[in-house]
Amino acid sequence: MLTAIEKTDKKMFELIRGEQARQAGSIRLIPSENYVSVAVMEATGSCLTNKYAEGYPTKRYYEGQQFTDQIETLACERAMALFGADGANVQSHSGSEANLAVYAALAEPGETIMGLSLPFGGHLTHGWKVSYTGKFFKSVQYELDPSTGLLDYDQIEKLAREHRPKILISGSSAYPREIDFSQFDRIAKSVGAYHVSDMAHIAGLVAGGVHRSPVPWSDVVTTTTHKTLRGPRGGMILFQDQHAKAINKSVFPGLQGGPHMHTISGVAVALKEAATEDFKAYARQVVLNAKRMAAKLMEYGFDLVSGGTDNHLMLIDLRGKGLSGKPLAKALDRAHIECNYNSVPGDTAPPFNPSGLRLGTPAMTTRGMKEPQAEQVAAWIAAIAENPENESVIEKVGREVTALCKAFPVPEVFVRIRED
Ligand SMILES: *Cc1c(COP(=O)(O)O)cnc(C)c1O
Repeated sequence: MLTAIEKTDKKMFELIRGEQARQAGSIRLIPSENYVSVAVMEATGSCLTNKYAEGYPTKRYYEGQQFTDQIETLACERAMALFGADGANVQSHSGSEANLAVYAALAEPGETIMGLSLPFGGHLTHGWKVSYTGKFFKSVQYELDPSTGLLDYDQIEKLAREHRPKILISGSSAYPREIDFSQFDRIAKSVGAYHVSDMAHIAGLVAGGVHRSPVPWSDVVTTTTHKTLRGPRGGMILFQDQHAKAINKSVFPGLQGGPHMHTISGVAVALKEAATEDFKAYARQVVLNAKRMAAKLMEYGFDLVSGGTDNHLMLIDLRGKGLSGKPLAKALDRAHIECNYNSVPGDTAPPFNPSGLRLGTPAMTTRGMKEPQAEQVAAWIAAIAENPENESVIEKVGREVTALCKAFPVPEVFVRIRED
């Protein structure tokens, strides 16, 4: 791979090679990241990047759609089959665009949307003030119970009764527990709101059968395609039949021009991979690894928000250790352990230096790492947290991380597909 770039653009070749080596040589614990298969990368890097396909299959504004129509239809069919949805739109360029398109389809500007507040783990696009979703719509934000770190469905219901939102949003970027979508559905119905669920983080766990699905409980489900689902970067919308027209119109021509057909072909490949038994085993292992890492971290005396995890991620609350997130994340990065600093529920520290660390297991699991490696990672984090300025400890851990990464190379193909 990259042989043409090497000939034409040495500088870029070296930069991409550098990133490739960095990804291979570090334990990547950012829970929204992963490694995709070479098959997904081949599709994403294919000639489909040359094609305009404004519109939808059989209803395009440009000719030459003999293959693109089939590609997009296949991607939609695979998405619908995998998640049991009535309909799918695979054109959103990202999860954020998918959310904005859905809100614009279901609500008028100025109407009320209600989502989880960003410092409590909600996404920017769930109505946070700096996001256009918080400017174009009236945004009411619910929070987690700061004492338990859990969703408080009674509180959400109370707020919904008071503000009567047009859209109630479930889903999170940093919630370590299983979400009860049936509660959101019940609350939304009781106030006449649409329930939009954003499963960006957990789509792969839902596909793999280790997290309950929001699809039966939601008017519309949005997701990214590149997190636990392990596809190329993109967005996807699943919907009930009655919303098909509004959603499709909202994505195109409402918000976007031409769909990225190269991404859509990669999404289709990833969705086929996600329907395999191997993918189910990966999803199960993601959760087993996270549970083991969480248990070990607690043994080392770390406070975990909500006391553990049910899914692929965990949030360390560092306040008890007198540490803050940013210096620790930076020290870990020097030891080739990548994670991100994050606010914890009820955090009073500023968002650019919050009190928490967010860790997840999808990428390490894709490399084949299991519980013993999850324990090892927890031990390394504990060693560095003892003294994040002790460079000799950081160096020692860094060497051990490098050795582990060599033992678990990034695989090129990780699901066996039975040909149909
Ligand atoms: C990551 C994420 C998104 C946005 O995805 P982008 O592709 O980065 O725009 C939306 N919602 C949630 C819950 C997310 O975690």
